[in-house]
Amino acid sequence: MNTAGAQRVQVPDIAAQVSYAMRIMGVSPIPRNYELFYEAYIGSNPKLTRELAALGSKASQEELDAIGSQYFGHHHRTQAIDGAHSKLVTQLDGLLRILRQEQTSLESYNRLLGETFARISNKHASSSEIIQSAIGILTEATGDTISQGKEMVENVVQKSIEMDVVRRELDEYKRIANTDSLTQLSNRRAFDDKLSTVYSDTMGRNLTALVLADIDHFKKINDTYGHPVGDKILASVGSVIRSNVRKDIFLARTGGEEFALLIEGNTVEEAIMICERVRVALEHTPFKNSKTGVNYGPVTISLGLCMASEADGPGELYSKADIALYCAKNGGRNRTVPFEEGMKKDISKNWLIYRR
Ligand code: GH3
Ligand code: MG
Ligand code: MG
Repeated sequence: MNTAGAQRVQVPDIAAQVSYAMRIMGVSPIPRNYELFYEAYIGSNPKLTRELAALGSKASQEELDAIGSQYFGHHHRTQAIDGAHSKLVTQLDGLLRILRQEQTSLESYNRLLGETFARISNKHASSSEIIQSAIGILTEATGDTISQGKEMVENVVQKSIEMDVVRRELDEYKRIANTDSLTQLSNRRAFDDKLSTVYSDTMGRNLTALVLADIDHFKKINDTYGHPVGDKILASVGSVIRSNVRKDIFLARTGGEEFALLIEGNTVEEAIMICERVRVALEHTPFKNSKTGVNYGPVTISLGLCMASEADGPGELYSKADIALYCAKNGGRNRTVPFEEGMKKDISKNWLIYRR
């Protein structure tokens, strides 16, 4: 308790000093710079502190980012996305330039056609020399246009190949940004995005269930066998859930030992059956270390469920599913509980205690 109290007093001091140091050094007050200065300030990595100090008071954003990428790969993901984005913009620029050139050359070809037509229709243009020179001009201009057109097609094909590479790069960054690295399931960010779409159509609202699942007594597993074993169990629980539900059911790891499912197109009874299938499958999954023979199991989960039609929006849906989850825990764990009106009132007091 004292430690937590002491930390609480220190945090604002560090924050103020970090902000002050950034201001003095003329550094932009953006989150990735703050993270850099925070680490340097608390001195957890002396090499980073030295490198940052060596930049002096005129550090450019590029220099700061170079240190950032070296020490915190994760927060510079946005930089990579920015990079891919600017590559895409450059490619598009090139493509537009080619198309504009093409437009210009077609315009001049059209002008030539017009001029030639004017010459031919001129009443003095009956002489064969004029017609021949007109044909000459047209032949040359047509030849030019054809070869320019060919070149343009090649350029456009090349640009679209390059753009495809950048688009794939962006897709990969997006996938990484939306994936939980431990379980390879969707992460909280992807879940929040998905949840925000549930209320955009009536069908979604009527037949969508949000399920929150939480591993039972997971702290005990960690305390008994250690965090690395806990991590392995977490990953296995994720894959057991994934392999026991339909592909179209959205599944995410939303926090520590918590998972969320969005079941679309099913009634509440069907959604409960899906939850029960997952719960029973996990309960019967052996969690045995093949080398040591230690049995970590059984590992169970509690599930709380709420239909989207029972809430006015994503926030309320989440908290109602959370209340149902609480009831599943309170009712003895290893069970599925659907939300019912009235649950909220009964547990409001205990709920806060549970959450702490
Ligand atoms: P309950 O049945 O009430 O859910 O009990 P519980 O012990 O599962 O719940 P509690 O919230 O007390 O503890 C959750 C534990 O999950 C505590 C934390 O150490 C552990 N945890 C959270 N994230 C991770 C993780 O990424 N890896 C590991 N190994 N453990 C984690
Ligand atoms: Mg738990
Ligand atoms: Mg939990």
